[in-house]
Amino acid sequence: MTCTRPIWAEISRTRLAANFRTLRDAAGPDTELFAVIKANGYGHSLAICAEALAAQGARWFGVTGVEEGLQLRAISPQSRILAMSGLWPGEADALIESNLTPVVWQPDHLAMLAHAASRRNLAPGSLPVHLEIDTGMSRQGVHLAGLTALLDQLPPALRIEAVMTHFYAPDEPEPTAEQMRLFTLAVDALVARGMRPSILSAGSSADLLDHSTTAITSLARRVGATRMIRAGLGLYGYGPGAQPTTGLQTVLAWKTRITGIREIPAGATAGYSATFRAQRPTRLALLPLGYADGFSRLLSSRGSALVHGQRAPVAGRISMDQTLLDITGIPQAAPGDEVVLIGEQEGGSITAADIAALTGTIPYEVLCAISARVPRIPVE
Ligand SMILES: *Cc1c(COP(=O)(O)O)cnc(C)c1O
Repeated sequence: MTCTRPIWAEISRTRLAANFRTLRDAAGPDTELFAVIKANGYGHSLAICAEALAAQGARWFGVTGVEEGLQLRAISPQSRILAMSGLWPGEADALIESNLTPVVWQPDHLAMLAHAASRRNLAPGSLPVHLEIDTGMSRQGVHLAGLTALLDQLPPALRIEAVMTHFYAPDEPEPTAEQMRLFTLAVDALVARGMRPSILSAGSSADLLDHSTTAITSLARRVGATRMIRAGLGLYGYGPGAQPTTGLQTVLAWKTRITGIREIPAGATAGYSATFRAQRPTRLALLPLGYADGFSRLLSSRGSALVHGQRAPVAGRISMDQTLLDITGIPQAAPGDEVVLIGEQEGGSITAADIAALTGTIPYEVLCAISARVPRIPVE
């Protein structure tokens, strides 16, 4: 279904490509840069991102699960695709048939894969998996205490291609050092059993940008593995802090148009619960989007959007499908004019980090929240 409402997100392929090259240079020639495009490319579109990144030589993609993996496989026959959240009952056959690689950490993952592998008489070691170690997130991953028992159940068809972990505070040296210590113990336990993972996968955009976890590089060297860094947010132009990160450019611009303008006298109200009351004769612009599009209701009377490069404040409550801007200070604004919710316009700029600061969240969530009904349009 094509969207004919004037609301869209432009995805810059050249900026995404440039960010990938910047991050790859930061990773260095001996490290494999793994592109995290889970959750529909952090809201940027799986298809647009995979295509632009593959053109830059990206070989590894991380998606949410098998469902997204199948979507990606249909457009990317060659790439390696990791189902980062493991697999669920009923998915093992499709996973194997489409040559997806699962993250595994619990016995039922191994059992589901063993079952599907035996039906196909897969040769020993022919099904690569990435084993996640829980070093402190208590989320996914096998804890060190359960590692031996899990490895005892490893079906012959499976081969541990990579051992991975996730740092919960990559910007803080102490917890990361402790997580590295646990990860090293896990890797050494595998090696002691004669297993030779060819990849050690740890670290995300933050590690890449501040080079905080070089310890993993020496561990990889010691066990003869390649280091892999899984970068997501940096690809889309955002860094760990609230500020724009040097060398990266934001990839997504979210736009709409003014659909109508009205003038209301001092004292008139606007929006649900009349939280906006005009203090003076006021010009309001109607935008054809609301919280159903992912423009958070928390931005009511707090957020803004760019009109002719200037920030026009949101007037009153954001509705499901409508938002009002106070454009009293922008007399040249007219119906049909482009409005920028995230992005740049005539020298003005609003980022997902700006919105996150106003709504008490992180840029990741702002980007992912742009709803599916907003079309993503590839641009240069
Ligand atoms: C999302 C995710 C990443 C990417 O993190 P960024 O901060 O976006 O770079 C890496 N590894 C795992 C396991 C993840 O879930």
